[in-house]
Amino acid sequence: MYAYDKQEKHRMMLNTKQYIAAHQNRFLGELMDFLRIPSVSTSREYAEDVQNAAEFVKQKLLEAGTDQARLIETKGCPLVYGEKMVDKSLPTVLVYGHYDVQPADPYELWETRPFDPVVKEDKIYARGASDDKGQVYMHIKALETLIATKQLPCNVKFLIEGEEESGSDSLTYFLKDQQNHALLQADAVLVSDTALSSLEQPSLTTGLRGIVYLEVEVTGPNRDLHSGTYGGAVGNPINILCQMLSSLKDAHNRITIPGFYDRVEVLSEIDRTALNHTPFVLSKYKEALGIAAVIGEQGYSTIERIGIRPSLDINGIWGGYTGEGGKTVLPSKAHAKLSMRLVPHQEAQEIIAQFTNYFTALVPKGAKVQVKVVHAGSNAVVVNRNSVALQAAKKAFEDVWKKSPVLTRDGGSIPIVAQFKEVLDCDIVLMGFGLDSDAIHSPNEHFGLANFFKGIDTVITFYKHLAALYT
Ligand SMILES: [Zn+2]
Repeated sequence: MYAYDKQEKHRMMLNTKQYIAAHQNRFLGELMDFLRIPSVSTSREYAEDVQNAAEFVKQKLLEAGTDQARLIETKGCPLVYGEKMVDKSLPTVLVYGHYDVQPADPYELWETRPFDPVVKEDKIYARGASDDKGQVYMHIKALETLIATKQLPCNVKFLIEGEEESGSDSLTYFLKDQQNHALLQADAVLVSDTALSSLEQPSLTTGLRGIVYLEVEVTGPNRDLHSGTYGGAVGNPINILCQMLSSLKDAHNRITIPGFYDRVEVLSEIDRTALNHTPFVLSKYKEALGIAAVIGEQGYSTIERIGIRPSLDINGIWGGYTGEGGKTVLPSKAHAKLSMRLVPHQEAQEIIAQFTNYFTALVPKGAKVQVKVVHAGSNAVVVNRNSVALQAAKKAFEDVWKKSPVLTRDGGSIPIVAQFKEVLDCDIVLMGFGLDSDAIHSPNEHFGLANFFKGIDTVITFYKHLAALYT
């Protein structure tokens, strides 16, 4: 059995640390190769690159010493599966991450080319550096280190998908099939796709919001009209759409969809105080964003608005003429994309129905509206704070970062995590190593080298604690 006395711990920590130090340039070089592959999953144009990124992950898992690694073909982008089984009596961790990235545009706002990684001031700049290739690679190198130094204390499985940025439809489908559950069976799912509070204050994410993503279309006249001949006499779909969208929130920034808040949990004052007790400085937050004030639901702090309250945002709006100069058009159609972030107990399918009923009722006579679901919605996730896996994660941060991690709630969504929890019935650990300032989904995305290397160390230490706690 696995002994974990102090002397042993010291010897092993030196060993893995030495291995990482000896191979750090190669680790970084390989990560840069990974980042050079423009694996944008939202556009067909990059289909070959997406395939190449999947092959890259498979190859690196094999080189790291997994017993097997293979691509699982789907209707969309392939899943990459790999495993290293040490002993069936030991705990098993399933590492989840994604090899696809967000589109890089607007290109003109990048200081260096998005798929030509560059190291500047101890940070690696490239699309996907933090979300999520840097973090996925950290896990592959942690596994390599443990296998190479003969210290892997548990079984590790990898499931790396290629559609996280476009809705995870293929993985959702894969998880729905019971025949696949045995392959993925694990004691804990480990996900590194979130951020730390700061480099000085580590954190573990214990909640994620759910998401619903919709597209709406308002249709007026059967063709585009001249705004001189018809303006003022025929309803303009863009004007109508704007009115409909703005009536989705009231003067206090509360969402007006009937029933929307019915299932939202009301937190006790004690829980709210605990939640607000994070190292967050509003003035710095505003300064970093270049805004004079924050706007959000009345009666809640910024931390609460992100962590425990649902939100609704219009993500894009288009119609009519948007080219250079003017064109006096009264368009036939107007469109918008919008997303809602959900909190625990809200049901994505119910929210979609509530929105659709309400929004369709808002359209005036003389126009039509259509609501489309862009990708399958997901519910929020709350992590069990008392699980063995979370205890191991806390200990890992204490060892490596010399500080206890704070437990935070993330405003973002990783739709698949809710399904892992449901389907595999196992513990979830959201151990992210990015920073909010990494500019994920934005130009000049980057990932700190310290985050990458300390991340490797923390993952290694997590496995050791997890194995020790299970023994
Ligand atoms: Zn991500």
